[in-house]
Amino acid sequence: MPKQKKFSGYQSVKGMHDILPSEQIWWDKLRKETREVAENYNFLRIETPILENTELFVRATGETTDIVEKQMFSFTTKGGDHLTLRPEGTPGVVRAYIQHGLSHLTQPLKVYYDGPLFRYEQPQAGRLRQFNQAGFEIIGGEDPIYDAQIILTIFRLLESLKIKDLVIQVNTIGCKTCRPAYRKKLIEYYKSRQKDLCKDCVRRMVVNPLRLLDCKNPACAEIRKEAPGILDDLCNNCHKHFKGFLEYIEELNLPYELNPQLVRGLDYYSRTVFEIFTKMISPEGKAFDSALAGGGRFDYLVELMGGRSTPAVGGALGMERVIEAAKALKANISAKPKSRVFLINIGDLAKKKSLSLIEEFVKAGVRISESLGKDSLSAQLRAADKEGVELALILGQKEAFKESVIIRDMKSGVQETVLTKKAVAEVKKRLK
Ligand code: AMP
Repeated sequence: MPKQKKFSGYQSVKGMHDILPSEQIWWDKLRKETREVAENYNFLRIETPILENTELFVRATGETTDIVEKQMFSFTTKGGDHLTLRPEGTPGVVRAYIQHGLSHLTQPLKVYYDGPLFRYEQPQAGRLRQFNQAGFEIIGGEDPIYDAQIILTIFRLLESLKIKDLVIQVNTIGCKTCRPAYRKKLIEYYKSRQKDLCKDCVRRMVVNPLRLLDCKNPACAEIRKEAPGILDDLCNNCHKHFKGFLEYIEELNLPYELNPQLVRGLDYYSRTVFEIFTKMISPEGKAFDSALAGGGRFDYLVELMGGRSTPAVGGALGMERVIEAAKALKANISAKPKSRVFLINIGDLAKKKSLSLIEEFVKAGVRISESLGKDSLSAQLRAADKEGVELALILGQKEAFKESVIIRDMKSGVQETVLTKKAVAEVKKRLK
């Protein structure tokens, strides 16, 4: 048994947060907009398990990526299976595509998902170990119009939350034909500066040179500034593809910037890659660019995972960061309408009948607040007051016995007794 760390009390796990009831209004809004935007652009919903075989990510995400090398929450089951909490959504979606023969549906297949991901990273502002993404994938389409449509979908979703100052950074990382020559050029450039690179980057030069451009180390970031971009080395097909993509983005009037050094951290990308940023202010008052979303083309992934050669493109937004950005702008979102009626029950018989009385109202689409566990009339009246309801339904012993209920107008204090079977209609009449 590994030695246990000292018990730190009942706290949530480092980097994993509760989403409390007061936050749910934002999550509801984001999930609702995700569904609406997805439906507008004809994406179908897909849900894949949170746990997958570790091998899936090692193969798909790539053995030498940060995610696989450092960030996976992996464990072995009692039966000896090696499983991992998904660190990203695409491999699971592609596995499902192959496993269920979804290539037999009309292609390209457009799917979307939202849900939790897990990465063992150093937690900091905007970086959690459990976080959520909403993702969109178009599988089975090579045309650059699909790359533009993925970006447009995510962009519209961000706009629906009133997030402003959005900038889309785009780049291409070529294909199997043109990337090797570029990789060589990159290695040559970095070799001459090897002594100033971090330890990870020295290793990256051998195992995954493109990732050199992704290093967050300040010294490496400085070296990156002068690194060669790929654009001059693109083959004809990639050049045409990227040009076509940019034309669609321009036609849509989307605010984009070319960033020749954008490569993104995963192995499976080819051709188009993108990230979407917004401007944020840190608690210390400093402006910074917050990465809200990212994605790219993954033309080789389906085949790599045992399917037929199938071009694809996708992208995902980080839901926590999007909610932070929306909140910072004080975007106005309306809370669910509060209930306008409160049920008060007094005595055992009334308490017994109260749940079925509430059912009558729920069926009729009228929400009822209550404080069922409180027995005293004054405590329940206080709760009704606090909720700011217009009407209280008072069900006492006598009323319960006579199959009736009192309707009290909370403003005027006027009360009227009506038969229970007429209560819904009477309440509806008064709420008009
Ligand atoms: P990625 O899958 O790394 O391309 O990330 C896509 C988006 O997910 C990013 O732009 C962030 O908004 C969000 N994201 C990535 N990693 C984290 C994390 N550890 N904590 C919170 N959000 C994240």
